[in-house]
Amino acid sequence: MEAVIFDLDQTLLDRDRSLRNFIRWQCQGMLGPYIDHHEAAFTSRFLELDANGSVWKDSVYATLIDEFSLADWSVQELLAVYEACFCAFSVPREGTIAAIHLLSAQYKLGLISNGRSPFQQRNFRALGIHDLFASIIVSQSVGLRKPDPRIFHLGCQELDVLPEAAIYVGDHPILDIKGAKSAGLKTILMVTPSHPQCEVADAICSTMVELPSIVENII
Ligand SMILES: [Mg+2]
Repeated sequence: MEAVIFDLDQTLLDRDRSLRNFIRWQCQGMLGPYIDHHEAAFTSRFLELDANGSVWKDSVYATLIDEFSLADWSVQELLAVYEACFCAFSVPREGTIAAIHLLSAQYKLGLISNGRSPFQQRNFRALGIHDLFASIIVSQSVGLRKPDPRIFHLGCQELDVLPEAAIYVGDHPILDIKGAKSAGLKTILMVTPSHPQCEVADAICSTMVELPSIVENII
């Protein structure tokens, strides 16, 4: 194997924790006078509407403005704050930084994320490991989305490796694992509470600490 390519949300980035930290800041700051002692309800409703990042925040905020009587705020204002400030709350999954440093000594590294650009680039850069990645691809900027095999081929091309010499690491069984597998890459599922298993993955990894040794054993 010559290259390891990663998903961002819930793989390198602990999106759950990052999002909860952002929501707390927004609740206690600009929305403080409106949310008052309903922070827990606001947070759980936000997370529910967000559906693990699959719903863009314009529709999330439109519902929250309505349900929590935030009439002094517009969707555009709250969305602009989310887009500009989320990166300040980006935190990696535990063990990510050490694992990436270890892997970078032996493999070319890439990133393929479904999401908005430059929003996802900023969130990734906040982790402080972007210099170790030779290819960074965000779906919106290339007009392709996982699980389309072409986005995985583009990642391999940018790293100058054949798909069969690359491993893709992600948390989503369809978008990440099925997509990368259909493009000819080896696959590792990063376990999350939403997706603890995936039968078609070449390996399953429950913590980033284990990742370097799992990668080494994939042939
Ligand atoms: Mg993900």
